Amino acid sequence: MKKIKSKLKHLFISINTTLAIVFMAMIIAMIEVIGAYFTRQLEQNSIESFQSSIQVPPIVTNQLSLQLLRDNKRPSASLNRIVNDYSNGTNTISEIIVVDNKDIIRAVSNLNDKSRIGQRVNNLLVKQVTSTGRQATKVINDKDNYMVQVTPLNAGNGSTNTVGAIYVRASMQGVFNNLRNISFMFLVTSLIAAVIGAILSLVVSHAITKPIEEMQGQALNIADGDYSSQVKIYSNDELGQLGQAFNTLSVRIERSQEESESEQRRLDSVLSHMSDGVLATDRHGNVSVVNQMALNFLNKTKEAIINKPIAEVLGLKEISQDLMSNQKGIVITLNEGTRDEVILHASFSLIKRVTGFVSGSVCVLHDITEQQKNENSQKQFVSNVSHELRTPLTSLHAYIETLNEGAWKDPNVAPQFLQVTQEETERMIRMINELLSLSRMDRGVSKVDVEWVNFNDFVAHILDRFDIIVKTDAKEGKKKYIISRKLGTQALWVEIDTDKMAQVIDNIMNNAIKYSPDGGTITVKLQQEQNRLLLSITDQGLGIPREDLNKIFDRFYRVDKARSRAQGGTGLGLAIAKEIVTAHRGQIWANSSEGKGSTFYIALPYEPMSEEDDWDEI
Ligand code: ADP
Repeated sequence: MKKIKSKLKHLFISINTTLAIVFMAMIIAMIEVIGAYFTRQLEQNSIESFQSSIQVPPIVTNQLSLQLLRDNKRPSASLNRIVNDYSNGTNTISEIIVVDNKDIIRAVSNLNDKSRIGQRVNNLLVKQVTSTGRQATKVINDKDNYMVQVTPLNAGNGSTNTVGAIYVRASMQGVFNNLRNISFMFLVTSLIAAVIGAILSLVVSHAITKPIEEMQGQALNIADGDYSSQVKIYSNDELGQLGQAFNTLSVRIERSQEESESEQRRLDSVLSHMSDGVLATDRHGNVSVVNQMALNFLNKTKEAIINKPIAEVLGLKEISQDLMSNQKGIVITLNEGTRDEVILHASFSLIKRVTGFVSGSVCVLHDITEQQKNENSQKQFVSNVSHELRTPLTSLHAYIETLNEGAWKDPNVAPQFLQVTQEETERMIRMINELLSLSRMDRGVSKVDVEWVNFNDFVAHILDRFDIIVKTDAKEGKKKYIISRKLGTQALWVEIDTDKMAQVIDNIMNNAIKYSPDGGTITVKLQQEQNRLLLSITDQGLGIPREDLNKIFDRFYRVDKARSRAQGGTGLGLAIAKEIVTAHRGQIWANSSEGKGSTFYIALPYEPMSEEDDWDEI
């Protein structure tokens, strides 16, 4: 039902139908106007010509006038004869009556009406003519149509004296039949013309609307993004030119669409490959575009950001107009104090149209976490170095001052003071040397100078040295340490800088001794895992609190500063060890249980030698 309704609606509103209806209505209206005028004119002409056809000729009227004058008031056979002669001579006239100026009937053409002769006529038209002397004609549309014409009969010789009148009645049936036939023929031809006109108008309007319909279809295709079809050009008239213009327009839209799409793709690719995060907003400040990097920084999904106010997305209260126009931007810290802390520099700019209308804004997020951390650690480092140097220098200054003031003469104090100053100076020199070596590594000046060594032999050789130290310490009555070796016998060839790696193992072994004040066993174990060598050094010393485990590899970090310093520690040994192991593409870490002992691990990349390699060597 709905379909039929919409079809009907379409039928009535389509140009095609409208044109056909208007065209047909115009043809019918024209035919009607012309027809009405034509039939009216025809009727008038027919009546006029009929009127003149029944006009009694002057010769007859003259004869009748003379006869009336002669046979004044008497019944006259001559009058009747003239009337009958005339009546018989015409076939259109059906009745003739002659009256005198007293309105008395003097002659009749109809034999049946002979009795009326001598009677007064009661026809008003006749009375009017006899009294006025002017001819009168009347068409009477009774059950049969006829015309009555009453002509005055004058005295003759130019006299205007009315002596009577002749009443002529003639049937107009023939005239009206003719007129009816002509009208009917006219109606039929009009209908035929209207039908032909309707067909023609349908054809013409179809010819006009077809290209328009095609253009409409093409417009809908363009709206759906299909630019492939072209409007067919039927003629070179205005519609043809419009179609041509439409095709050109479609090609241009397609081209500009392609250009804008490729521009969009380029922009998307630029945005997605940028190392900075980008957020764009609409004029209300809601996020409309966001790139992957910004999502990574903010650790949010696209859905959680799009259409949200940018201030809310960045965790700000508001973004002032000042900030928008200010090129400096602001620093935003996300997840402050956690391991995922991100420090971002956000700079804003407004998107303005040529008219100056602000249509949105762009925010560029630059990750400055590393930069900020570096700056902080640099500041921390300088402060640490100053602090570390000031402490020994202050104590040196105090000792030297005391000596200077006379203590140098005291044999009980002077040697001890000098011993302390020497130890402090040595510690400072060691610290400065270690700082220099760290600085060289930072600047990349100190490169690892690698050579192939059997790591088993290498570690054993270092431990031999420590065995001697431990034995000497024991002899001197210091604490007793046992070094337990779990090295294995297999040759494990690795490429290392022997001096530097020895420095690492030395430092860990020294720490194991230093931080095990009650002695104990130091276990050194070397294992070969699939593609790495794992060296572990376990002591039974003080241990390291859990929260300090990650920090002990930082520069100057010490769990117990006083103890470390008293032991001659600089707080740089493990930091240097980490740099050296990392330069060997290895890892260093520690496990500990406070009060029970610690284990330090060094993992180095290792590729087991194949048999072919062995053969090569032979
Ligand atoms: P230091 O010169 O102070 O020994 P290190 O960098 O070698 O500097 O060590 C840093 C800190 O790590 C030490 O001060 C100490 O607190 C802790 N440490 C290192 N090794 C051990 C260990 N085997 N047992 C307990 N604590 C240790």
